Amino acid sequence: MSLDLDVLRLARPEIAALAPYASARALAGHDGILLNANESPWPPWQDPGLDLNRYPEPQPAALKTRLAELYGVDPARLLITRGSDEGIDLLVRAFCRPGQDRVLVCPPCFGLYALSARIQGAEVIEAPLVESPDRWRLPVDLAARAAGCKLVFVCSPNNPTGDLLSEEEVGTLARAIDDQGLLVIDEAYVEFAPHASLMHLQRRHPNIVVLRTLSKAHALAGCRIGTVIADPEVIALLRRIIAPYPLPTPTVAAALAALSSEGIAGTQARIAQILEHKQALVQVLRSHPEIRQVWPGTANFVLVRASDGPRLVRDADLAGIRLRDQSAQHGLRDCVRITIGTPLENRRLTDFLQQWKP
Ligand SMILES: *Cc1c(COP(=O)(O)O)cnc(C)c1O
Repeated sequence: MSLDLDVLRLARPEIAALAPYASARALAGHDGILLNANESPWPPWQDPGLDLNRYPEPQPAALKTRLAELYGVDPARLLITRGSDEGIDLLVRAFCRPGQDRVLVCPPCFGLYALSARIQGAEVIEAPLVESPDRWRLPVDLAARAAGCKLVFVCSPNNPTGDLLSEEEVGTLARAIDDQGLLVIDEAYVEFAPHASLMHLQRRHPNIVVLRTLSKAHALAGCRIGTVIADPEVIALLRRIIAPYPLPTPTVAAALAALSSEGIAGTQARIAQILEHKQALVQVLRSHPEIRQVWPGTANFVLVRASDGPRLVRDADLAGIRLRDQSAQHGLRDCVRITIGTPLENRRLTDFLQQWKP
């Protein structure tokens, strides 16, 4: 494939033709006497010193620098979004023409890819993963099916199966899509599987887009911060349609604190603790007479198949423990996703499991 991605040809023509909305902050910055944005000149009651009367920076420079450093990429390749959820939605809206373009997903997977595509009016093509005792595999004909799709969504580690994709799998797929579409790799859980990021493949395959988030390992789901990492032309295109001020000031401040060196040390400690407790939980699950299959995966959750999955979820619920029923997903009859909690929460779960009989 050519190393130059013709982003404007891939995009919806009306988006390619759009001039970005020029917000007051984007036009004039933060200095001087600010009489250009109809803001209050005074802070609100009990302002925590964050200048909450002012609109935030559209793409906060300090956070962008920090994320670029964290992910090891050029800041021009980043777009900070309101969670990865918004990144997914922006990609679908920028590239998929209603009634014309196709989006490929590999269920069981995160449901938002297909939902965003359907809201946009794009056709959703499903190429289901293939079950095996140790992992779920991409279907062998995936590359053939991906050809001609505008967006192909894969996830590594995958939610809810926990499996990682290999460089070979992703490289083959990116080549098959070629210059007809983008391969989106959602790496929401990759911090739990060190050195497993596939981001470096972007150098060879400019049609790869990577999604990262602070919601999982970085413990900031309430902040809503995700990052789209892609060719600068893709980023420039998405900036034409993103909301003018997607990132609330308190959210950005909290994220910067969590990404300080102390914050990152804390994240590393939590990851280590979660992985250790996951091992213990997997042992309990593997020796349980009513658990038929355990897929430990490489993230902060495990997927199991029980003798009666919906019943497991209901009984756990009665014991005050919320698990995620996956039985409505493709191929996941009787399957339940269990997130690793604190040591105390894991102990409560283990106690419940040890007496559970459907
Ligand atoms: C949790 C999750 C996300 C959502 O991330 P946000 O940044 O919180 O929007 C994205 N993809 C997958 C696969 C997830 O499980």
